[in-house]
Amino acid sequence: IPLISCLLPSFQERLYSPIWNLLQNAAKEAQQRGWHLYLVGGAVRDLLLAPGNQTLLLQDIDLVVDGFHRAADVGAGVELASKLREIYPQVRLSVHGEFQTAALIWHKDPELGSLMIDIATARTEFYPYPAANPQVEASSIRQDLYRRDFTINALAVRLTSPKEGELLDFFGGVEDLRSHQIKVLHANSFIEDPTRIYRAVRFAVRLGFKIEPLTEEYIRYAIESGVYEKLRLENHPAPALTTRLRAELNYILEASYWKPALQLLSHLGALRPLHSQLVLTGELWWEIRCVSRWLRYLDPDHHVSHWLIRLEILIASLKTEERIKIASNLQLPKDSIERLENLDSMEKTIKSALPNCQKVSEFVLLLRQYKIQILIIVGVRSDKSIRHIIWQYLTQWSKTQALLNGNDLKAMGYKPSPKFKEILDQLLIATLDQKIETKQEAVDFVKTIDN
Ligand code: ATP
Repeated sequence: IPLISCLLPSFQERLYSPIWNLLQNAAKEAQQRGWHLYLVGGAVRDLLLAPGNQTLLLQDIDLVVDGFHRAADVGAGVELASKLREIYPQVRLSVHGEFQTAALIWHKDPELGSLMIDIATARTEFYPYPAANPQVEASSIRQDLYRRDFTINALAVRLTSPKEGELLDFFGGVEDLRSHQIKVLHANSFIEDPTRIYRAVRFAVRLGFKIEPLTEEYIRYAIESGVYEKLRLENHPAPALTTRLRAELNYILEASYWKPALQLLSHLGALRPLHSQLVLTGELWWEIRCVSRWLRYLDPDHHVSHWLIRLEILIASLKTEERIKIASNLQLPKDSIERLENLDSMEKTIKSALPNCQKVSEFVLLLRQYKIQILIIVGVRSDKSIRHIIWQYLTQWSKTQALLNGNDLKAMGYKPSPKFKEILDQLLIATLDQKIETKQEAVDFVKTIDN
């Protein structure tokens, strides 16, 4: 084991002190029970990557418990988490999985902020068949690290003594951090778990690393081997797998670096595990960038889910029945599945009705029946003239308000009634069509329609 001189002093300096104290408490509890405790995964990677003087605000920490002389009891992680809850009574503890991992969750805590600590017992995974859900059993830390995705994510720092602060680097992760490489631990990695392809791309783009050539070959081999196609055609992908796949797509398509990530996925042929006919054509690439520009302008505060609309545009390039299959396999939200299901008919209605509209109010009355998500999707998939009208609607016309509101009508002596809405609608139509332009004209207009 290469020993990078004791890492703890540098970690202590760079970790926010309440988090450091918490790790110390966890190590003390583990030590008392005769266990080793390790900081593993992303936190170690990020600590080693961050410039020396930078304080790291970790929000997601993975710990692994292991026994001294034999594998720790399966329940060790949960026991340690429960002990920590006694010290931090405000924390929420949740235990999940057959192999009992515990998560400690602090939500907007005055001291620790929002923090999640996963505590697992060292474990090995077996994949009964490709892309299946792994089966797990207790093991030592080395085996636990071997089941991980990339060398840079398979590093661990021991928090307990003896040798606390020792870096465990069994697979050359530090060298790969230095040479900026994303490298898998074994040739079957992507056959076992297709989500690792998406993770490889995500880390490569996010960290500015290269996917190591052999790892890239393994990716291409896994995709071309047909294991994913077989899985898809059988049409009952394991729900846990699709949940993880969706989570990775979410990460990638929501991230600021989604464009290079999507290009890299496409370059690797890695959209095929989603659907064999999903190809990032020039047209689709244009559409998805257009969607993003529209979203940035129309929804800067992210009231709608941008990553989901990007995914929907990708899926919308497939035939209708395929769209529904992949959307439901990915367990997308109900409204998203509905949009993809009804896209053809909505597109047809909008595209055939719009050319018959002349007045602005006619456009508005037609388009206001649809939610912004569907209008954006239909807009970018349409020809220029229709796209322009939808854009006008979304940016201007939909924001136009009637020149009087309910209170004005009350002040004019009207009592709240269904007629209110009718009058307000007529006012809106007259405003949109520029028949009335001032409040006084609106008041006169109301009097005429009431007669
Ligand atoms: P991020 O900063 O994006 O959260 P992370 O490395 O912490 O990065 P997580 O998804 O939280 O990513 O995963 C934690 C650790 O679990 C990883 O560092 C890796 O060791 C392991 N891991 C996660 N997903 C997989 C997978 N699909 N296959 C193997 N190991 C995985």
